Amino acid sequence: MNELELTGRARTHVVDIDEPRCALHYEVVASFLAMRDAAARAGIDLRPASSFRDFERQLVLWNRKWRGERPLFDRGGHPLDRDALTDAERVDAILCWSAIPGGSRHHWGSDIDVIDAAAMPEGYQVQLVPAEYAQGGVFERLTPWLDRHMHHFGFHRPYASDRGGAGIEPWHLSYAPVARRAVEELSLPVLRRAIAGSEMLGKEFVLDRLPEIYTRFILAVDAPPS
Ligand SMILES: [Zn+2]
Repeated sequence: MNELELTGRARTHVVDIDEPRCALHYEVVASFLAMRDAAARAGIDLRPASSFRDFERQLVLWNRKWRGERPLFDRGGHPLDRDALTDAERVDAILCWSAIPGGSRHHWGSDIDVIDAAAMPEGYQVQLVPAEYAQGGVFERLTPWLDRHMHHFGFHRPYASDRGGAGIEPWHLSYAPVARRAVEELSLPVLRRAIAGSEMLGKEFVLDRLPEIYTRFILAVDAPPS
């Protein structure tokens, strides 16, 4: 991937799929659809709630959270009072649940947030919270199925454990053959250039702390099984 693709400012590396509707890196499509077929045989309708996401979308989300137009949550998922936070605390609160624009794994087209549409009652609104994926949750069958089968198709969970950066996301899958290359190519200078040239609110503050943010939120993820 080139610098624009790595940071979600181009989409020349992704293809649009109609069924299920999503956009994925061209090297991911066959494996994802094969995994979806296998899941269907187990009665699971595996669908992406989110797939490729571009820089602009991540930026809009960031700016809304910075302005207080979207709620902020702590690591335990409890709402925070935005006005009581320092700039540093605000950055941490946003980063716990949303990636920094330019640094989202969703920019690569290798990563998807998955749901089981067959398990959802009529009109169900997906929240993407850990409880939905735990025993007793609406997606309780999906989690053990993925545990058993996703590695066979090249997928793993980069946010399976709390490493002090991003929160735990049992719904977020990554296709290792593509993501492994992307994380090597997304260097600190590449990320810095993407942010410096953007309309990101709180940008100066983020750029000051970028080496730490890069290490905590981009490098500190769970590696695929070797
Ligand atoms: Zn995700």
